[in-house]
Amino acid sequence: MTERGEELRAASHAVRAAARVCAAVQRELVQADSYEKKDKSPVTVADYASQAVVCAHLERALPKDRIVGEEDAAELRGEQVDVRRRVVERVAVELGKDVTEARVLDWIDLGGASADGERYWTLDPIDGTTGFLRGEQYAVALALIERGEVVLGVLGCPNLPYAGGTGGLFVAQHGGGVKAFSLWDEKAPGVDVRVAPPATLAEARFCESVESGHSDQDQSQQIARQLGIRSEPYRIDSQCKYAAVARGDASIYLRLPTRKDYREKIWDHAAGKLVVEAAGGRVTDVDGAPLDFTHGRTLARNAGVVATSGAIHDAVIEAVREALGR
Ligand code: AMP
Ligand code: MG
Repeated sequence: MTERGEELRAASHAVRAAARVCAAVQRELVQADSYEKKDKSPVTVADYASQAVVCAHLERALPKDRIVGEEDAAELRGEQVDVRRRVVERVAVELGKDVTEARVLDWIDLGGASADGERYWTLDPIDGTTGFLRGEQYAVALALIERGEVVLGVLGCPNLPYAGGTGGLFVAQHGGGVKAFSLWDEKAPGVDVRVAPPATLAEARFCESVESGHSDQDQSQQIARQLGIRSEPYRIDSQCKYAAVARGDASIYLRLPTRKDYREKIWDHAAGKLVVEAAGGRVTDVDGAPLDFTHGRTLARNAGVVATSGAIHDAVIEAVREALGR
């Protein structure tokens, strides 16, 4: 992994820093049991702070690069005084005492580039916000796109089981493979990540969203039945699903549209797609077409996502198309 070494280092560093911020907020949230009170502000605070931290790191390392982030600071600049104060505090803990409110707002808005041109980063500062609020899985996802091709993908998964504890960092390079590292211990050596193809389709395990509004779970059950899969689905929030397929915890990820008009967002898939592909797997939409990152902020030409360990992909797509009547 020598090509784009500077980008790799900067992205990994940025994602680790953002993950520390998110994990600290989630720890407090879980301790305070405030998710039971339906208070969504912790995830809002962590979302903004995570974007600010990633953009600050990328700006320092690669000042010419453009970033397409999920968030912008428009609302935060307005009335949200309390949330704004909490965001600035969180960013200051990570980046040091020179942090000011104005700089934090500007860092968040650095993520406002348009998703076009030769080269840009795309960032989901907290993917899987509902998982975050439940005290469960979420991810910080950062990818570099060049001429419509995802060339670098970094996934920080703070709560994913890893090396006897939790917290994995998955770093993928186009044409270069994937390595997993401890998210918290920068000195720990990485390990190569490869998909684990099932011996037979019936032995495949599939994963899907926890949220039934994000993927049709009745249809996935029907598809599993048709493929002879008897094991229960592995339901897990965020792009942790891509990491699960990449390292063989599952061999199929189904994301089946629940609405005709929904368009998948590029930051929800860019990093994860490369993590699976570079680990030897395949990723397409439900029709078997490649994910097309040349249409701005959404995958406007694709419906849903299917990721697999590779050899089983065509058979899975056939079952998906039949179940969905496509
Ligand atoms: P997951 O954790 O896999 O359920 O995915 C979380 C992501 O789902 C969020 O980042 C949203 O951008 C995205 N999302 C929101 N609404 C929908 C929908 N109707 N269909 C698919 N994805 C959605
Ligand atoms: Mg997301």
